Amino acid sequence: MASPALNWSSQLSVLPSSVIPSTLIGDKILLPQSALEQLLAAVSSAPSGSHQTPALTGTQKPHVDVSWASAAPHQNPQPQLPHPLMFRLFNPKNNRFSHAAPLEFSAEEGKIGISPLLRDALGIGEDVGMNDAVEGEVAEDEGVRITVVWKDLPKGTYVRLRPLEAGYDEEDWKALLERYLRVNFTTLTIGEVLAIEGRTLAIGGNRKAEFRFLIDSIKPEEAVCIVDTDLEVDIEPLSEEQARETLKQRLARKSAGSSGGTLKIDQPANGEVLPGEYHFYELPEWDQKVPLVIELGGVDDGDEVDIFVTTSKHHHKPRYDEHVWGDSGSEYPKTIQINPTNIELVDAEKIFIGIHGYAPLDIDEGSEQQEEDNSPRPYSLRITQTEIQDMELPTNTTTPPGPDYKKCKNCTQWVPNRTFILHENFCLRNNLVCPRCHQVSKRGAPNTHWHCQQCTAHGNNAPRSLRKHVSIYHTPRPCPACTSSSSPYIATNLPDLAIHRATTCPEKLILCRFCHLLLPQESSSNHAELLLLGLTHHELTCGGRTTNCHLCDRIVRMRDLDTHVRNHDLQRLSTPPPVMCRNANCSRTAKDLRHPNPLGLCGSCFGPLYAPGYDPGNVALGRRLERRLIRQAITGCDRAWCRNGMCKTGRVNLGIAGNPAQGVSVADAMPLVKKIVQDLKGGGGELGLCVDEGTQKRRRLAERIAVESVLERDGGWDVYWVVAAVEEVGGSEEDEGAIRTWLERNAVRRRER
Ligand SMILES: [Zn+2]
Ligand SMILES: [Zn+2]
Ligand SMILES: [Zn+2]
Ligand SMILES: [Zn+2]
Ligand SMILES: [Zn+2]
Ligand SMILES: [Zn+2]
Ligand SMILES: [Zn+2]
Ligand SMILES: [Zn+2]
Repeated sequence: MASPALNWSSQLSVLPSSVIPSTLIGDKILLPQSALEQLLAAVSSAPSGSHQTPALTGTQKPHVDVSWASAAPHQNPQPQLPHPLMFRLFNPKNNRFSHAAPLEFSAEEGKIGISPLLRDALGIGEDVGMNDAVEGEVAEDEGVRITVVWKDLPKGTYVRLRPLEAGYDEEDWKALLERYLRVNFTTLTIGEVLAIEGRTLAIGGNRKAEFRFLIDSIKPEEAVCIVDTDLEVDIEPLSEEQARETLKQRLARKSAGSSGGTLKIDQPANGEVLPGEYHFYELPEWDQKVPLVIELGGVDDGDEVDIFVTTSKHHHKPRYDEHVWGDSGSEYPKTIQINPTNIELVDAEKIFIGIHGYAPLDIDEGSEQQEEDNSPRPYSLRITQTEIQDMELPTNTTTPPGPDYKKCKNCTQWVPNRTFILHENFCLRNNLVCPRCHQVSKRGAPNTHWHCQQCTAHGNNAPRSLRKHVSIYHTPRPCPACTSSSSPYIATNLPDLAIHRATTCPEKLILCRFCHLLLPQESSSNHAELLLLGLTHHELTCGGRTTNCHLCDRIVRMRDLDTHVRNHDLQRLSTPPPVMCRNANCSRTAKDLRHPNPLGLCGSCFGPLYAPGYDPGNVALGRRLERRLIRQAITGCDRAWCRNGMCKTGRVNLGIAGNPAQGVSVADAMPLVKKIVQDLKGGGGELGLCVDEGTQKRRRLAERIAVESVLERDGGWDVYWVVAAVEEVGGSEEDEGAIRTWLERNAVRRRER
C-alpha cells in the first residue's frame, strides 16, 4: 500500500481566474493532459516500494526530472499512480508555496488552473494588481509561472483553525468545517485561509455569509494529506472581542427563522438548516404525566432533515451518532412519541432536540453521482402533549365499498363496475405498480421507488434516500469513543451506535454523585455489588471516602451517606410531637414532670398552685386556681410585659380591655372562672396564667416563628415544635438561627405529618 516515490516536477503558467470553472475550489488544480502521461511514465520507471521523497524544498531551485520535451517511454503497461496525487506548488517570485491535488487533467498545455484559495496562498496577482488594477484580472495573472512538484505528504492527525471573524456558533461550525475540509481538500498547508459559506447570525436572518479561518497549526507536519485519515479539527476560541461581537449579533437577531433555542408545548419553531449543520432546541417544561409527541414536518420533497433527542440526564447534545431517540428515515413528517414511563425520561429536567441537515457520512457515498445540494432546508418543529390515541386502522381493502365494485388487479383499488374497463385500460397503460408494496407510480416518469435488499424498508427518491438508508442502517460503525478500550464496540448501524454511546459505552460521561466531576462511566461490568448499588467503578472508589454527617457528626462513607441521612429522617418523622404546658403564655413543654398534675401544666406554672396534703377529686386545687384567676381578672398582675388575655393588666397591654378604669366585678368574673376550672378538670379548655418576663418573651418568639414558617417548605412548624426548640436551644432573638437548625433536624413539619 506504500506509495512509490515519484520524481516529477514541471513549470506551468497560471491560467487567469476569469477562465477558472467554479468547481475549482479548495486545494484543487487543473493540470494539462501531458502531465498525467508524464506521471504515468515516471511511476513505471520508479523503483517500486521505494520510500524516498523528492529532495526539494520551497526555496531550492526546482529539479526537473522529466521535461516537457522528453517524456520517458512506458515500461510497465499498467502503472499505478500513487493515491491520492498531491503536489507542492511553488511561486519563485515570492518564495511562497502551498499544496494541491488535481481535479482534472484538462488544462491547456503548459498551463495550470488553480483555485482562488491557492491563488491567495501563493500571492498571485497581489503585486501587479497594485500598479495596473485597471487592466483587470487577465493582466494580473499574465506571465506568472509556478513550479509544480509531486509530493508525498504524511497523513494529518490534527488541525487547529483560528477564526478571523466573529458571528458564528462555534459548536455548530465544527461539523460544517469537518465536512467542508473532507469534501474540498486533499491537502492542508499551514498559513492557508479557508473561506467557508455559512449562515450569518446578523439581523436579516438566514442570509449566507462567508467566514474565514486561518490554518493555525497542523500535525504531524506543516503540510498534510487529509484523505482517509481521522483528522481532529480544533477551533481556537474566539478572542474576547470576537466573542462579544458574536453575542451582540446573536441578540440582534430577532425576526430571523429559528435556529434553536427554548421550546414550549404547542408552539412550533420554523427554521432552515444547512447540510451538516445542527439546530439545538431544549424543552424545559412539560406535563410529566402525559406522553410527549415531537413532530418534525415542513420538510421539502427530497430534502433530508433528521431529528435526534436526549435529555439533561445525558451530558451531551443529541447528534446523529449519540442520542436516545431519533429518526433518520426519509418519511415526513417524523414523529417521536416518548411515554412518561420511559426510564430515560424519569428525573430528566430538560429535553434536548437536535435538528440535523443530513449530509452523506461516508466519503464515497453520493459524491460521484450528483451535486450535493448545499442550500438551506426548511423545517417545522412542534411538540404536543395529547393522550395516546388509538392508531387508525389501515383502510381494509379486502371488502368492496359496495356490491357493484370490482378490484383492479393492477393498482388493487376498488372500482365501480360501470367504469371498470375504462379504469383498467387507463391503469395498465399509465400506472406502474410495485409488486412488493403495491405503491402506484406513473409510467414514464423516472422511477425512483426502491426496496432495500437487506431489510423490508422501502421508499422513494432513489438513489439518494436509498443511499442514506444503507449508510445509516446497514453500515457497521465502530464507536469512536471506546476504540482504544479493551473491548471496542462495533455497532451494526448508526442508531445502534447512537444508543450505545448514550447508554452502555464505557466512555459515556457520568456525573459522579460524590465528587461531582464528569467522568467516563467505564466498563458496565456485571459486578454484583455495582449493579446492586447502581454505582460506576469510579463511584465505588470515590464513594468509599468518608465524611462527617452534618446531622450527627459521625464518620460515614460517602456512598452510605444517603442511607444514613435517610435514617435520621425516618427517626425524625417517627418522633411523637412534644406536649406544651397548658398555660397559653408559657414557653415550656410539660415533659419530665416530677409531680404530674391534672391541669397539664409545666413544673414552673404548677408550682404556685401546689399544696401538699390529701385532696380527693382535686377540690382544693380547683379552689386555689379559682382564686388565682379571680385575682388576675379583678386586680391584674401590674407587670408591664404581661400579655395574658385572662389578666386585667395583660388585657390592657394587649389593647383588648373595654375600659381599663372600670375593671371587672367578682360577680361578673365568677361564672367564667368556674367554667374554666370545670373544663380543665374535664381535660379541655384554655388557661392563661401570668408568667415572668423571660417566659413571656420566649413564648412570643415561638409564636412568631410558628406563624411565619407557614409559608415555608412543607408548611413550617406548629408552635409546640417551636416551643420545644426554644426550650432546647434558648429563646432570645439571637437564637432564631439555632432554633431553626434544631427544628430542621428534629421537628416534623406541618405537611409532613
Ligand atoms: Zn387500477
Ligand atoms: Zn414498493
Ligand atoms: Zn435496509
Ligand atoms: Zn463506545
Ligand atoms: Zn467521584
Ligand atoms: Zn448522622
Ligand atoms: Zn408552664
Ligand atoms: Zn398578668
